[in-house]
Amino acid sequence: MRCPFCATEETKVIDSRLAANGYQIRRRRECVGCKERFTTFESAELVVPYVIKNDGSREPFDAEKLRLGLRRALNKRPVSADDVEKAISQIIIKLQSMGEREVPSRHIGTLAMDALKQLDKVAYIRFASIYLSFSDMEEFTKEIEKLKE
Ligand SMILES: [Zn+2]
Repeated sequence: MRCPFCATEETKVIDSRLAANGYQIRRRRECVGCKERFTTFESAELVVPYVIKNDGSREPFDAEKLRLGLRRALNKRPVSADDVEKAISQIIIKLQSMGEREVPSRHIGTLAMDALKQLDKVAYIRFASIYLSFSDMEEFTKEIEKLKE
């Protein structure tokens, strides 16, 4: 890579070791031109996949949309903003770890439902009743029966 001091294209790695509990590689480099030394860090790039909407169009994943959906379902329910943010982070980590470039919006809806199920049963039912199609409702009604038990 190019030297950040003199822009020489050639730099050599003089030391390489693990950092951040092994999640990164730290490389000490020296410029062949000006002999300045600098450090680079290498880590895995985790990308949130694009969302395939029901009509087949694609759009970037939008955490704000997810947040709005969860908040709407959680309206006036005893769940802290902190818990909502934790749930959102967990959903994003799940999406990143899939390693897919695109996921159906339906999949994100399912992850949101799973999160709400843990947070608040009423919100879960609210969300599902808006989100699920009629054919899924039968399945869902069975789920509700299980929750009652
Ligand atoms: Zn240089």
